[in-house]
Amino acid sequence: MITTVVLNPAIDVRYSIDRFELNKSHRCTHYQKTAGGKGLNVSRVLRILGDDVRATGFLGGNSGEFIAGELHRLAIENRFVRIDEETRTCIAILSKDLTQTEILESGPFIKKEFVDQFLTLYRKLLDDTTVISASGSLPRGLEDDFYSLLIEEAHKKRVKFVLDTSGLPLKKAIQARPFLIKPNQTELEQLCGKKLSSEEDVIQQACELYFAGVENVLVSLGAAGAILVNREGVFKARIPKIQAINPVGSGDSMVAGFVHAISAHSDWEHALRYACACGVANAMEEETGKVNAETVREVLKKIDVFGA
Ligand code: ADP
Repeated sequence: MITTVVLNPAIDVRYSIDRFELNKSHRCTHYQKTAGGKGLNVSRVLRILGDDVRATGFLGGNSGEFIAGELHRLAIENRFVRIDEETRTCIAILSKDLTQTEILESGPFIKKEFVDQFLTLYRKLLDDTTVISASGSLPRGLEDDFYSLLIEEAHKKRVKFVLDTSGLPLKKAIQARPFLIKPNQTELEQLCGKKLSSEEDVIQQACELYFAGVENVLVSLGAAGAILVNREGVFKARIPKIQAINPVGSGDSMVAGFVHAISAHSDWEHALRYACACGVANAMEEETGKVNAETVREVLKKIDVFGA
């Protein structure tokens, strides 16, 4: 069983309108409402790949009910703690003149009683979890080192912990030695506080994170593929050129691909290739955080991994 930790889920609402103008009312016939956020994308892709998945975190109010309904529809086991505030909604307004306006709610404040409930549940879930995959930001009310705490608990039960987050929560979590982190270049630059202008710079920073205790540092580089640093060395994955349709969610699909492979006891090289194949397959879909399993199999044949 793979457990996904989604502490700050969201409903993503996307309005497509002809021309967005300030101080105007807009009628909208094309809109989408989905269970969004990085962790739910990872969960969805894992299900498409055929894994048993359960998701945990915090859900509240009518938005929480909506997400619970989506989990049920996708056959993802719902182990969320119910909270007394509303789960956040993030709105994107896409205009045909190619502007995109976003309104992102900051989300609920998680009271101590719910944090305690979550920690008790999390320790129980670890008992039959092969891999934990945690993604996204921390909601208000949780300390910046919350992921470190979760990693330490996972260590006690020898469960691998994969983390995809950014900023201070990522910086703090590195000290707890997660099994894998997956920064993209921007997140890596934030982490080390400087611009990385060459592949050598990226590799050097990834190596530093490896020496700081992260077992696998997977840096995703969009259409340029990915770099993995682990105890076997430094490896580069070259991916095929494709006509990208929507690369949003490719990083989440990549995490799902890696988690899928390691929970099936594949070696790191296959996991890297599979992760890239899922990232590429996501970029070929219109929907965010979705892959076609047949496309993944086809793309997999075209990914080269070599020592850098
Ligand atoms: P994030 O979404 O976290 O920023 P990336 O954009 O680096 O992550 O994408 C993750 C992976 O998805 C890449 O390593 C690559 O394998 C694949 N990918 C992303 N964008 C493209 C693209 N435009 N063309 C082909 N593959 C892509």
